[in-house]
Amino acid sequence: MSIERIDRVGVVGAGTMGNGIAQVAATHGYDVVMRDIKEEFVESGFENIDDSLDRLANRDALEEGPEAIRDRIEGTTTLEDLEDCDLVVEAALEDLEVKRDIFDDLEDVCDDDAVLATNTSTLSITSIAANLKRPERVIGLHFMNPVPIMEGVEVVVGEKTTDNAVDLAHEVAEDLEKTTWQSDDKPGFVTNRILMPWINEGIRAYDEGVATKEDIDAGMELGTNVPMGPLTLADHIGLDICLHASETLHEELGDRYKPAYLLKRKVETGDLGKKTGKGFYEHD
Ligand code: NAD
Repeated sequence: MSIERIDRVGVVGAGTMGNGIAQVAATHGYDVVMRDIKEEFVESGFENIDDSLDRLANRDALEEGPEAIRDRIEGTTTLEDLEDCDLVVEAALEDLEVKRDIFDDLEDVCDDDAVLATNTSTLSITSIAANLKRPERVIGLHFMNPVPIMEGVEVVVGEKTTDNAVDLAHEVAEDLEKTTWQSDDKPGFVTNRILMPWINEGIRAYDEGVATKEDIDAGMELGTNVPMGPLTLADHIGLDICLHASETLHEELGDRYKPAYLLKRKVETGDLGKKTGKGFYEHD
């Protein structure tokens, strides 16, 4: 499969990442089918896309009107609607069994030469593809949050992924005006292997009273020139996503990846960050 043959992109999951991926693909001329399990989740995905496209249009950052872009995205709750997609990017929950089930279904629904990508943050591409008949077309296409803004995409190569799928993943990401880097299918890849312990250490520092949350974030922003400190970034990513990622890395790589106590408590109380209006900070 070459990039010229990709017209239609499927996105599984209309949440934070899924709606961003759908928006960016449609902005770059692809027809997109965005699937979630409930109509209300699809609608909420479209609301985010509309808001984001309006903001970009107000900044003159779009080459055509938001409506033309929006019209290229079809929403659905039916997986079979992805049957004509040449590339599918899965962005559902960070749970191995959920992802395996989705890829199992995609294998039945999509053509044999469709490339199946996952946006997983930490799960093994090889494990996600392990029970498939054609694991060689499964690849990690790890977009960053927020997708329309963040320039980088991490291409993650599973044990069985073919060179053709790897080349295609880089080409598609570059066609979406992203810059790629490549990682082996090792826990956390490049980004989360390094990011998650940093976030957890920020949360521990706050929990242990080293400084206020504002000062911890300011210390990292002003002292190390990162655009966001660990607590602000955790709220943006979603505390549940951070906890899932940390637990997976803890399991795979041992104690230095143990999730912070306060991260677990926050997730238990439902304060998940920006998406619920409250995490370490209050959000509108
Ligand atoms: P989210 O919770 O915002 O959205 C997930 C969506 O998937 C939900 O709308 C849910 O209803 C849907 N879903 C669940 N099961 C489904 C199924 N079987 N079919 C279709 N949809 C289904 O999560 P998110 O933050 O968008 O994360 C999605 C994926 O992207 C995860 O694997 C996560 O690790 C990864 N990721 C997240 C970030 C981030 O900053 N949030 C960054 C990079 C990668």
